Amino acid sequence: MRIALDGPSGAGKSTVAKAVAKRLGIVYVDTGALYRSIGLYVCRAGVAKNDSEKIIPMLNDIKLDLVFKDGTQCVILNGEDVSSLIRTGEISMYASAVSAIPEVRAFLLETQRKIARENSVIMDGRDIGTVIIPDAEVKIFMVASAEARAERRYKELIAKGEECTYEGVLADIIKRDTDDSTRAVAPAIPAEDAIFLDNSDLNEEQTVERVLEIIEEKTQKKTKKKPNRFYRAIKFLFGKLFSLLYRVKVVNRDKEIFDKPFIVYANHTSLMDVVVMVIAMKNQIRYMAKKEIFKVPVVNWFVKAMGAFPVDRKNGDVSAIKTTLSLLKNGECVGIFPQGTRRPYQNPRETEVKDGIGMLASRAGVGIVPIYIKNKKNKLKLFHRNTIIIGDYIPPEEFAFPELSGKEKYKKISEYAFDKLCTLGEEWEESK
Ligand code: C5P
Repeated sequence: MRIALDGPSGAGKSTVAKAVAKRLGIVYVDTGALYRSIGLYVCRAGVAKNDSEKIIPMLNDIKLDLVFKDGTQCVILNGEDVSSLIRTGEISMYASAVSAIPEVRAFLLETQRKIARENSVIMDGRDIGTVIIPDAEVKIFMVASAEARAERRYKELIAKGEECTYEGVLADIIKRDTDDSTRAVAPAIPAEDAIFLDNSDLNEEQTVERVLEIIEEKTQKKTKKKPNRFYRAIKFLFGKLFSLLYRVKVVNRDKEIFDKPFIVYANHTSLMDVVVMVIAMKNQIRYMAKKEIFKVPVVNWFVKAMGAFPVDRKNGDVSAIKTTLSLLKNGECVGIFPQGTRRPYQNPRETEVKDGIGMLASRAGVGIVPIYIKNKKNKLKLFHRNTIIIGDYIPPEEFAFPELSGKEKYKKISEYAFDKLCTLGEEWEESK
């Protein structure tokens, strides 16, 4: 999930975004810190804040990184953590001035987009909904009257021991508003599809609640899809057949039906595991199936009716990943096997895990549900007792790992998920 939160300085974006990120278990990114850091660099070099001729070549000497420590963003300028040094009135004005230079914006574009690609984020800035993430799921443009903002900022600065007057702060805010919204590149204006939120008369808590409501409304599609009749009928028939042939017993079947999409995943012991998952879960589960299957008459009709979708295993599966992500974003549940291929006769703890589950859960911002398939020799066998243990729903905030990004994060989530799965089996074994 990507939430773009734009608006003028001092509208309270960062306070609200921090609270929302915490509630949703997603990463908060303060993009103003990047412009501020460039402002700081220019200020320290003694260069005038609007001297673009001098500032542009200076960009070659700047390396900026955003790192997340315990969910808090730190900005690193050429190896130095400048997170608190950039929070002064003077640097605010430098930031605003340098941000009007197209080369500065271009310089920071990819840093911001990369974070948004690799994480579920709420990103605050001026051009997030228009330039950085134009396809964000939720866009909010948050405003408050200049007076309300000046009052808040003034109190903040005084509390930090900075010398200032209310009039001075108000004048700075009005100047920054005008500069930010009238500059030629990426002006701070609402995206066409942004929701406008004026919080002049709302306190912090009320604003957070309103933002959460907007997110909920915008992502309402994220509700459980009821299985269709055909699916339910097949599930019933297979359920009967399997309980006879495989003596399948499902533990925890009657847990709540989740009202949100999730990824259900299991250890992979046999070709029948897909059927086992379908029988075990109340929700309709969508699967990837080899594309060759979709060419076989009748079978093609059947798998489609059951909601499977094709994956081209030989030529990479970018389109299958896209389909999976859009299904999850549309409120559906998807089943996967993190081990990739079947591992009969092997203890799942001793097998390798693919990063796919981490990548999908992280990018779709959904939770996960483990299913442990337990049988005599880790192989689903006819006429043997086969037990299917359904684990608790694991919410996305439990595996947000905001300090990590990209592949490293996906790997960590996948390992975390798989460890949960193995523990589920082990605990069930002990409790017997
Ligand atoms: O949000 P903050 O006040 O920290 O931003 C400092 C300055 O950086 C703003 O006045 C604005 O000019 C600039 N900025 C921007 N685009 C962003 C974030 C900040 O131009 N996405």
